[in-house]
Amino acid sequence: MGTKLEHAKKAGICPTCGNSWNINDTIFWDRNVKNTAGGNVTCSDESCFKTQGGTITPFIPRSPSSGFSKFQKESLDLTFMIPTKVENPKLDKASDTVLQAIVRADGLASTLYPNLKKTSDTFGMIRSKLADQILGQS
Ligand SMILES: [Zn+2]
Repeated sequence: MGTKLEHAKKAGICPTCGNSWNINDTIFWDRNVKNTAGGNVTCSDESCFKTQGGTITPFIPRSPSSGFSKFQKESLDLTFMIPTKVENPKLDKASDTVLQAIVRADGLASTLYPNLKKTSDTFGMIRSKLADQILGQS
C-alpha cells in the first residue's frame, strides 16, 4: 500500500525513468514495493510509479458515527406522566378495594411460597393472580 506524498522529505532520482525531485515536491511512494535500485518505489511521475508496481491506497475517511452506533446511544425513554387526579368517590373506593386485595394477596403469596423472593417476577405474578381471585370473590 503506497501513498502520494505532497511534500517529499528527501530529494531523489527514479532509477527507472530518471526523474528527479526535490524536498517538498509531490512524489509517489510505496514502502512495500522495491525499485531496481533496491529501495522503496518512489517517483514524481505517477504512471512510472505504477509501472514499477507501486500502488496508491485510497484515503477512506472514517464516518464520525454510523447510524447504528448513534441508535445504540439513545436509550428508550418510557417516562409516564400521571394525569391530574379527578375527584371520583366511586373510583376511590374501587382503588381502595384493589389495594386491599393486593395487600391480602401479598400475605397469601408469602404464606404459600415462603422461599420465594418478594422482589422476583414469579412472586409478583402469583400476587397479581391472587389479587384477581380475591377481587373476583368480593
Ligand atoms: Zn520514475
